[in-house]
Amino acid sequence: MIEEVLHYAHVNKDKFIEDLRDFIRIKSISTDPHHIPDMEKAAHWLAETLKKSGCQNSRVYKTSGHPIVFGNFHSGQPHARTVLIYGHYDVQPVDPLNLWNSDPFEPIIINDQLFARGASDMKGQVIASIKAVEAVLSQKEEIPLNIKFIIEGEEEVGSPSLPEFLKSHRELLQCDIVLNLDAGMLSVSTPAITYGLRGLAYFELRITGPKQDLHSGQYGGIIHNPAQALCEVIAKMHDDQGKVTLPGFYENVRSASPEERERLAALKQEDAIFIQQTGVKKLWGEKGYSAIERITLRPSLEINGVNSGFSGSGAKTVIPSSATAKISMRLVPDQDPAEVRDQMEDFLKENMPDTVQWELLELAGGPASLTDPNRQEVQAMVDALAKVWGQKPIFQRSGGSIPVVAQMQTYLGVDSILTGFGLPDDNIHAPNEKLHLPTWSDGIDAIIHFLYNLVKLYAV
Ligand SMILES: [Zn+2]
Repeated sequence: MIEEVLHYAHVNKDKFIEDLRDFIRIKSISTDPHHIPDMEKAAHWLAETLKKSGCQNSRVYKTSGHPIVFGNFHSGQPHARTVLIYGHYDVQPVDPLNLWNSDPFEPIIINDQLFARGASDMKGQVIASIKAVEAVLSQKEEIPLNIKFIIEGEEEVGSPSLPEFLKSHRELLQCDIVLNLDAGMLSVSTPAITYGLRGLAYFELRITGPKQDLHSGQYGGIIHNPAQALCEVIAKMHDDQGKVTLPGFYENVRSASPEERERLAALKQEDAIFIQQTGVKKLWGEKGYSAIERITLRPSLEINGVNSGFSGSGAKTVIPSSATAKISMRLVPDQDPAEVRDQMEDFLKENMPDTVQWELLELAGGPASLTDPNRQEVQAMVDALAKVWGQKPIFQRSGGSIPVVAQMQTYLGVDSILTGFGLPDDNIHAPNEKLHLPTWSDGIDAIIHFLYNLVKLYAV
């Protein structure tokens, strides 16, 4: 019967594309208050589309920010297990508009590529999942699997309303596994599953010295310049092996298994690739680990910005009264952002000279996440992707953070399968964003295979 489902998807492909175009035309830019009515419109459009797909109990939930759409197909079969499909309907702003070759909100197709804002990130992915479910639910024989959707409108602005929603709707969102299509393919022929993401701890350090800026002729030599004190303290945050020196920073860092290190080595991301991408003279970092390991399974500390004193043109002989730095850390399992804050405080107490005053502000934070690649549901996706592309997906760990994956673990206690059908050259967040339609159609097939693999898996 999966053949009939795939057939349904194939014969309705043009209709699916028309629905995607309608969805894209709604200008759901979450960061811009002018588009609040568009956010409402997009949410209600989705709830209607979910209902038409067979998810009868679909509705829009208000939050303190943009609404969240919930969709639900409840199987009549008792003991059916549940998959929760996550997505976001908001998109990035479109500026600079003059670099677009066409209207960002009037999708056009050129050589199998559909150009528009949100085409790849991630309205295309959202429609792919809804249409795969529509195809599955179009059959007379009911599938013994509950299918839920949660589609938020604030991913591009850091998902501020999501944690509260997850916390207060645990029962509604109860599920066995989450499918998140907000990652992408490695290339047009190679699907990928992202099984690890780093977390984040972000601080602002403020150092103050004299009560106001001073003349360096009058006071130079007797004042510990706050800019200098800041540099001295920052310089101590790494040792000569490239290790972060905050006390206890590595204590809970989960060590990588040989299997894991092999998997990363298989990606063949040599140093030369990173040098070419970044234009640096030479790479830097923690000794004993390859570049790909340092940006995925090892934590890091970066100075994101430094601000102090005179930076205008010409010379001004001043001793600044204060200096600030933005400092962030990428975290790995099992580092706890709250513990890292304490470690930073301890480090500063130990290392800050007594000539200045300081305070530490916390700006953002969230833990890392990891899904076991050997989990049966992940293997169900591996099989689905392999069926469609003729080769198994690459398993990758990302150095970045997708907070929703960790939030699903924290608040719902459930792992996510992170994959998707966008391509590296889709220009997401940039002008001329596009979606490769043949890959997108294959993605719909892959989701259908995945859902049927889950049915098989859960029937045992
Ligand atoms: Zn996205």
